[in-house]
Amino acid sequence: MKFVSTRNRKNPVSFTEAMFKGLAPDGGLYRPESTPDLSRFFDSLAGDVPFSKLASGLTAELLGPEISPETAENIIRDAFDFEPVLRKIREGMFVLELFHGPSCAFKDFGASFLASAMNHLLAEKSGNDDDRAIIITATSGDTGSAVARAFHGKDRIDVVILYPSGRVSPLQEKQLTTLGGNVTALEVDGSFDDCQRMAKAAFTDPSLAGLPLSSANSINLGRLLPQSFYYIWAYTRMLSQSKGDFAFIVPSGNFGNITAGLYAAAWGLPVKRFVAATNANDVVPQYLKSGLYEPRPSQATYSNAMDVGDPSNFERLNDLYDSRVDIFRNHFEALSVNDKTTLNTIARVEKDYGYLCCPHTAVGWRAAELYREKNPDIPVVVLSTAHPGKFTEIVEQATGRPPELPSALLELADREKEAVPVGSADEDLRKWLIRRFG
Ligand SMILES: *Cc1c(COP(=O)(O)O)cnc(C)c1O
Repeated sequence: MKFVSTRNRKNPVSFTEAMFKGLAPDGGLYRPESTPDLSRFFDSLAGDVPFSKLASGLTAELLGPEISPETAENIIRDAFDFEPVLRKIREGMFVLELFHGPSCAFKDFGASFLASAMNHLLAEKSGNDDDRAIIITATSGDTGSAVARAFHGKDRIDVVILYPSGRVSPLQEKQLTTLGGNVTALEVDGSFDDCQRMAKAAFTDPSLAGLPLSSANSINLGRLLPQSFYYIWAYTRMLSQSKGDFAFIVPSGNFGNITAGLYAAAWGLPVKRFVAATNANDVVPQYLKSGLYEPRPSQATYSNAMDVGDPSNFERLNDLYDSRVDIFRNHFEALSVNDKTTLNTIARVEKDYGYLCCPHTAVGWRAAELYREKNPDIPVVVLSTAHPGKFTEIVEQATGRPPELPSALLELADREKEAVPVGSADEDLRKWLIRRFG
């Protein structure tokens, strides 16, 4: 498979090039040049196929012949020592837990694949010890911690993380700022949108063209493609659970997660129902309603990893659906859930089913309930994007008790924060990069 920019279909590039460039030179996002038909691959899947086997098979299907089946297996072996978990919560309602990786959020899937693929392909590409990559990534919380963990200790790669000061949870901040080594955290005096804009500007800045910059945001194809794997895995697990159709409900911010699912559907996955669940940052639900796409500054909510006012993957979806709202509407629905309902949902799901979920998952759960009011016979799989222990304050506010922390997070409490404060202008990042790497 080759890849082209969303803004220019002419210059197809390899996966390696798309992955290391991050953003296309014309400012567009890379997307698959064509839509492969994987129906036969999907039909051949058994209901108990191991995640790693499925993932290496898909990597080879999608990225061959550039990536051989052997390299695909090596990439997957180094990337995934964790798996998704499908849990039935009540009749017709399932959660797909995607938080069993090192940073306890779904972004571990994309980040771990990306780090492993870059590491393998950098070594294969060069044989030259000087070949390095610098990853720049903007985060509203979870991307940064997943990326930091995935790349930590990879000796050919430096990682620079931009996060909005005071807008990530204390625990997220610890995850971002306590690794050290090849990971540097820049604490930006601004919003997540500022961080994202600064990172984007660095990639197209001619004065930085000499640096081997790469991104690890959800704009990077190397993160996006592997996110399709768990949709396909969930499909195999649902074969025994639901006779017919079911719907994926996806808590969404930058819309990378749902884009990966919609790609899988385009490749022939026999699941065609998708619902994007947003918090008050509802530009996409509004777009599906009115046909007008009106980006605006993000608004802080309890599900802060979804506080995005102009989702970067909207450009990929526009490309996939010819910028036509009627085609969008054929492929997915979108619902918005406010903060008050998010808190209520966390409390209610715990009380009714003994299941504790994070605020993002709660947005998804509530959207799933609303979806089922209209479609009572369709089972739903709600993607659970983070462990509730990552959001102690909010979960405690909802239930009256702090959640238990997974051990990966407990260890962080005693570590010292190390972050470099920077301003929110493109120039602030440019200057820092040149001082550090120039
Ligand atoms: C990033 C994130 C989301 C949103 O995912 P997108 O791909 O940006 O739509 C949802 N929940 C959590 C916990 C996240 O970290």
